[in-house]
Amino acid sequence: METKTIENKPLIHSLSRDELTGIFAEMKEPKYRADQLWSWLYVKKAFAWSMMSNLPSVLKEKLSSRFNLDSVRTDKTEGENGGTRKILVSLQDGEQVEEVLIPGGERKTVCVSSQAGCRFNCTFCASGQAGFRRNLEAGEIVGQVILAANVYGDRPTNVVFMGIGEPFDNYDAVLKAVRIINDKDGLGIGARKITISTCGVIPGIEKLAEEGIQVELSVSLHAAEDELRSKLMPVNRKYPLGSLIEACRRYFEKTGRIITFEYTMIRSLNDSAAHARNLVKLISGLPARVNLIPLSPVEEFDGQASTPDKAEVFTEILGRAGINTTLRMSKGSSLRAACGQLRFRKQNGV
Ligand code: SF4
Repeated sequence: METKTIENKPLIHSLSRDELTGIFAEMKEPKYRADQLWSWLYVKKAFAWSMMSNLPSVLKEKLSSRFNLDSVRTDKTEGENGGTRKILVSLQDGEQVEEVLIPGGERKTVCVSSQAGCRFNCTFCASGQAGFRRNLEAGEIVGQVILAANVYGDRPTNVVFMGIGEPFDNYDAVLKAVRIINDKDGLGIGARKITISTCGVIPGIEKLAEEGIQVELSVSLHAAEDELRSKLMPVNRKYPLGSLIEACRRYFEKTGRIITFEYTMIRSLNDSAAHARNLVKLISGLPARVNLIPLSPVEEFDGQASTPDKAEVFTEILGRAGINTTLRMSKGSSLRAACGQLRFRKQNGV
């Protein structure tokens, strides 16, 4: 069981189902009580012990003296009801992260953060530049999904790990959270509706390939040349493109799952026909999708979106090479958010 505590009490939402069942067995409580609690937590999304009407008072007292039910709190919400909303989320120790809710037709997507801050320092990213504070616990990630469910009035259909932080830098908590939100007797969000996005941390890709879980993997490329990518994303010095693509190839061979590559198009930096040809060369033969996303300008980065003409030529070169490519042209959003969220919202036309 994870031991990060607030007032010495672990977060109840950080417990896996097996851990919860084990704790009930230790307390000499029948298993069905653990199932009832699980349902209160993830089906009815109870935010107070007193709501759990079918649990005996003595048991609720025991649980409340031992566990914290308040994993996360809403500090501030921006955006309008029914549209994209950004929630500033407070954690028990005063750290803050952001999540973004993106409704669209039948889809109710939530983009969650996995770390308070980030240590990867991508040049175009506010989170990276603000520095790393700490990893989130599984319960703090799960808590963001529950908050989203409360705002939507229903469980989210899709969860994307594209908020603040690099998910593979907090691998165990992220995977634990994925299993909790995927549990069929709880939130029940299908693995294929969960996307983990990485800046290219190879050990994370390798580990995920062994999990036997069908989540979507998305890799941020942003450049197909080592020199340029290292400038934009310092992680490339540790995990250069050749090794990264090899890891993606092994991931596909092992899982049969197609990877999505994200490529943010930045005017006169990575958007020429030669860049497109380099990208084709880099990923040729690897079953993959490419999302081209013209940059959403942010204060922290002195770059502009590619012009529509350039973006179209780039798309055409990839398309002619048989690469499944999507170009997202959108107006951006007035909401300010971390890079990952900007990335995600741009992809979704918001
Ligand atoms: S883009 Fe992602 S990995 Fe890079 S600094 Fe920002 S949060 Fe970290």
